[in-house]
Amino acid sequence: MAALQNIIHPDHLAAMGMRLLDWYVSHARDLPWRSTRDPYAIWVAEVMLQQTRSGLVVDRFRQFLHRFPTLQSLAAASLDDVLKAWEGLGYYSRARNLHAAARQVVQELDGRIPETPEALIRLPGVGPYIAAAIASIAFGHDVIALDGNLIRVLCRLLAIDEDPSRPRIQRFLRECALAMVPPGRAGDLNQAMMDLGATLCLPARPRCLVCPLFDGCLAQRQGIQNELPIIATRTRQAHRDVTAGVIWDGNGRFLITQRPADAMLGGLWEFPGGKRCPGEALPACLLREIREELGIEIEVGELLCTIEHSFTHFHMTLYAFQCRWLSGEPQCLGCAALRWVRLDELDAFAFPVADQKIISHLRALTGASE
Ligand code: SF4
Repeated sequence: MAALQNIIHPDHLAAMGMRLLDWYVSHARDLPWRSTRDPYAIWVAEVMLQQTRSGLVVDRFRQFLHRFPTLQSLAAASLDDVLKAWEGLGYYSRARNLHAAARQVVQELDGRIPETPEALIRLPGVGPYIAAAIASIAFGHDVIALDGNLIRVLCRLLAIDEDPSRPRIQRFLRECALAMVPPGRAGDLNQAMMDLGATLCLPARPRCLVCPLFDGCLAQRQGIQNELPIIATRTRQAHRDVTAGVIWDGNGRFLITQRPADAMLGGLWEFPGGKRCPGEALPACLLREIREELGIEIEVGELLCTIEHSFTHFHMTLYAFQCRWLSGEPQCLGCAALRWVRLDELDAFAFPVADQKIISHLRALTGASE
């Protein structure tokens, strides 16, 4: 690294920055959040873009801004309404944090979104990346928003053959990227590098021959672009078996429960159930979970469906069973709220993706439309 730092001259980096910005003028992707400097809109877009492809975000961004056109309207909305508008985007803590941050800005900052990364980062859910993206794109501050695309482009451009998740490497990447920025243009450079990473400097088979940085890219010169960036080996993802019950009351209604606000997927509604203990049979697991969560007795019937779903830290196999309520009045022992509902009432509630799939199976079974 030390030797590398000596051969990357600031003039070379500045020239690469100008070339990238020239390319961006004619090749920028046409994305709805690019046509505004409204920090609220840029904030919503950046939150949605975390872990989600921009192609999927385009429509959802427009719908969200239509539903909550201003920071004030978002702050005034109920969390249930925000989660409903976020349904299907996953990572619901992002929506909860965005909602909490909007309320904080309205209540404590007179509705004015802070301009600097240092102030932005104090808001719920705003990390270094989002703070830098808002500060640079909306307010013209020269800070680098280092995301996966930028890390990949920079590691290749500079032929960094070390794990870029190390803080020392990230500091170095930021310094080099800053040296590429003409004063006041970090917002454009961040977005240019995001676009280069999304369209040409792809994770597999980068399209070097048409890349504006072709002859200045050290990895391309050395022929090692496909080996970079170095990805640290990950430990095998944990797996959980989880059960869920569609508990019918005998009158066409079934139970749904709301997850506690401070839990994973907090505030969303689901079919009650829980994690299987080692060696436990699936029906026994569901009986136990329903007793613990709701204090009622049920009969576990047929398996309705099996759903595979991955979260950041584990993979889940969810077994959903048809169940019959036998006795006891449901109580909120392990949930925030509960409701007896009919299938056609479910659209009023926000569900995680896995539970939405259970609903699809139920609708297919009863012939109800989606
Ligand atoms: S030349 Fe190739 S590896 Fe280098 S930045 Fe461009 S696309 Fe990426």
